[in-house]
Amino acid sequence: MTNILVVADIKQGELKGSTAELLSKARALGADTAVVAVGGQVKDLADQLAAAGSDTQFIVEDASLEIFSANPFAAAVVKAANEFNADMVWFGFSETGKAAAPRVAVQLEAACATEIIDVTIDGDAVQIIRPAIANKVLQKVKVNTPKLVAVVRAGAFEADPEIAGKENVVALDPPETDTRAKIKELISDASGEIDLTDADIVVSVGRGAKDQTGVDMVKALADDLAAGFGSSRAMVDAGLMAHNKQVGQTGKIVAPSLYIAVGISGAIQHLAGMNGSKVILAVNKDPEAPIFNVADFGIVGDLFDVVPLLKEEIKKI
Ligand code: FAD
Repeated sequence: MTNILVVADIKQGELKGSTAELLSKARALGADTAVVAVGGQVKDLADQLAAAGSDTQFIVEDASLEIFSANPFAAAVVKAANEFNADMVWFGFSETGKAAAPRVAVQLEAACATEIIDVTIDGDAVQIIRPAIANKVLQKVKVNTPKLVAVVRAGAFEADPEIAGKENVVALDPPETDTRAKIKELISDASGEIDLTDADIVVSVGRGAKDQTGVDMVKALADDLAAGFGSSRAMVDAGLMAHNKQVGQTGKIVAPSLYIAVGISGAIQHLAGMNGSKVILAVNKDPEAPIFNVADFGIVGDLFDVVPLLKEEIKKI
């Protein structure tokens, strides 16, 4: 039996959906599942963690862990991994996961694989699948170490609503760590806008919107849908959108239920950040635009005509 420890993805005290997705996949592989929650106030999440599909909940709660810092966080995960005798440790695709995973891997002498989209277990043989070269190819990688630490790409697995674990809470003291740098304060985005990586719907704007007027028009569509508002790199380079709004290979990776690409050509570097979306709607005046190759629904037309019509239709819902 394989033991899989999932690291709970917690943001501002809230458990993110990726935790249930990872636990569902771990259970579907027939693994024994545990979850570790690390933070300043996390023990109240134990019942949610059990409902998400874990049979053991390791809780590492301490005021010193309120603000994420990679070394203490990783040390707490390693402690839980050793308690559970974990064969694999899975992180969701978050800044926290990306920072902590390599540190955990070093301490567990495990292989570290990022951006994985699938895992198979056949006896002792573990294989992972991950995209490479800006999503042009998928790599199948055989894991040669007894242990594996993995960062799972957003939207790779689906949460099974039928799945539930059982509550078995194990409180662990935070391990002593040699912390050379301490984060004193986290300055978060004060705009109050929906975080792209959490949004269920993302509307993204591309160079087709031309200028600030076009951007504002597409942003209003995003607001009507209570969607995250993203963009292509062209709009960031043009100074019309902030870098934290860029979707793609060198921006954020999103996998919402619905991705609406407005005036975006569909360059491979953009697709690398959004082609895991469940449904893709593209609006582009060029019927040959590559975005239509990945779109489930396409509207060929001028976005300055189409977006107001979409807004009208949404009002009727
Ligand atoms: P364009 O390619 O100029 O496309 C504009 C589209 O709008 C066209 O398809 C056009 O038909 C359509 N259009 C124009 N007017 C209208 C209208 N009135 N109505 C409807 N449609 C209209 N890009 C990213 O997005 N994210 C990344 O992370 C990223 N990383 C990169 C990393 C590297 C190393 C490199 C080299 C490039 C990267 N890029 C990235 C850039 C990428 O290659 C493209 O240049 C960029 O995505 C193009 O943005 P765009 O689709 O908005 O613009």
